[in-house]
Amino acid sequence: MKETKYIFVTGGVASSLGKGIISSSIAKLLQARGYKVTIQKFDPYINIDPGTMNPYEHGECYVTVDGHEADLDLGHYERFLSIQTTKENNITTGRIYKSVIDKERRGDYLGKTIQVVPHITDEIKRNIKQLGSKYKFDFVITEIGGTVGDIESLPYMESIRQLKWELGNNALCVHLTYVPFLAAAKELKTKPTQHSVKELQSLGIQPDVLVLRSEHHLDANLRKKVALFCNVQEEAVVQSIDVPTIYEVPLKMQEQNLDKTILRKMGQPVEADPDLLPWRTFLARRNSATEEITIALVGKYVELQDAYKSILESLLQAATYNDRKLKIEYVQSETLTADNVEEKLAHVDGVVICPGFGARGIEGKFIAARYTRENDIPTLGICLGMQCMSIEFARNVLGYADANSVEINEKTPYNIIDIMEEQKSITNMGGTMRLGAFECVLTKGSKAFDAYKEEHIQERHRHRYEFNNQYRDAFEKAGMKCVGINPESDLVEIVEIPTLKWYMGVQFHPEYSSTVLKPHPLFLAFIKAAIDK
Ligand code: GLN
Repeated sequence: MKETKYIFVTGGVASSLGKGIISSSIAKLLQARGYKVTIQKFDPYINIDPGTMNPYEHGECYVTVDGHEADLDLGHYERFLSIQTTKENNITTGRIYKSVIDKERRGDYLGKTIQVVPHITDEIKRNIKQLGSKYKFDFVITEIGGTVGDIESLPYMESIRQLKWELGNNALCVHLTYVPFLAAAKELKTKPTQHSVKELQSLGIQPDVLVLRSEHHLDANLRKKVALFCNVQEEAVVQSIDVPTIYEVPLKMQEQNLDKTILRKMGQPVEADPDLLPWRTFLARRNSATEEITIALVGKYVELQDAYKSILESLLQAATYNDRKLKIEYVQSETLTADNVEEKLAHVDGVVICPGFGARGIEGKFIAARYTRENDIPTLGICLGMQCMSIEFARNVLGYADANSVEINEKTPYNIIDIMEEQKSITNMGGTMRLGAFECVLTKGSKAFDAYKEEHIQERHRHRYEFNNQYRDAFEKAGMKCVGINPESDLVEIVEIPTLKWYMGVQFHPEYSSTVLKPHPLFLAFIKAAIDK
């Protein structure tokens, strides 16, 4: 395609309606037609990135290959599209302002007064258009966080208004709203949607497509009414009804010709529907699996739906490709003790020891690691989880009492996990960890190598502490092998106990690169081992 086309996805009425899933679904349908597509998220908060926020604020922090700490919606984009995103795919108000202020300090604005309009809006527009032109995408889908009417999203709305004006039918706005059902009146209510569209119109934006989220079917009459009151064509009002899995949403959108409507409105040829065969095969396998596999997640954020999002999705994908129905049991590591560990973990098929920061709940992770090691339950430790497996091994196999990570106890006599050399001088918290994809060389014959079936891999990281190489020999002699090593820094990236069925800790985050059509080899192998147990 000669010119990049820009689709904006805004939301109204309520937050958490699933703009990320709708954006991903539209992208999926366009990608299936052969277009080169990417998705970008703008977050209207002041933080430079979500890396400094805790999971209670923001759910999981996702990491891109180029080391950007990002909104978890980027995980959806990658899982749906099997593409890689970068820091250009997630921009916050903080970053926009920082860039403008840096330019002002450099004198780039030649004496002008710097204002929200045009300087902030120009910076927003530059970040949207740059993504399209630099990588020659056919479609850039830009999702705006928050809901229309928020004070903080106003500059984004103004930027969309300007771009729609400048780009004509190379720009299009999809607005996602909510249609509540009033149980007492037994009625679906469209008024909030009408108000939300009015709000958007008052900012000078006429939505081209409306996606109405609802728990109930919205009949043709209701959609016709919305179309009429909102100046949107009838065929461009689609419903997004609750479905058992987010991965069904693209099919629901295709049934209502959402992609065709978008293409037509943007002056593109409209050909027959792509069959989405691999996607449908995945869903069929997911839906037909009846035999359960139970995996326990040991972590301190178990009450938060979104804190371990990518891990959950990776497990679901791997279970599906192993024809199993995934059952997750959350185990709060803060309350896990030597007395109740058997009750919590004896019956499960596999255990994931989750990533994390700080001391809270860490003793429970040691207890879980010990229990699964001694009882040969397949275990995958991720980042802090891997560190806990190593520390537990040091304490209970090597006999190093009080072994620890210096993150938890600076004065530990056995600093099995130590601060990385390059981290010692760092005082700023934001964006300063070891972040992004690094190479790792696997030992042939290891379980890790068996899973990947290749010697050189790349995985994404987010940590400050590392396995202390002084202890490597002692570990190896006692049976915990270091089977994945970074060739440049010699950092230990994977440990495993080969004599057990499947007991592996990884310093990196495999969950960030597992996608629907390309499930991650480690999760596949872990689930397989859990089944064989
Ligand atoms: N807190 C640990 C570190 O910084 C592990 C981080 C993580 O689990 N992502 O090294």
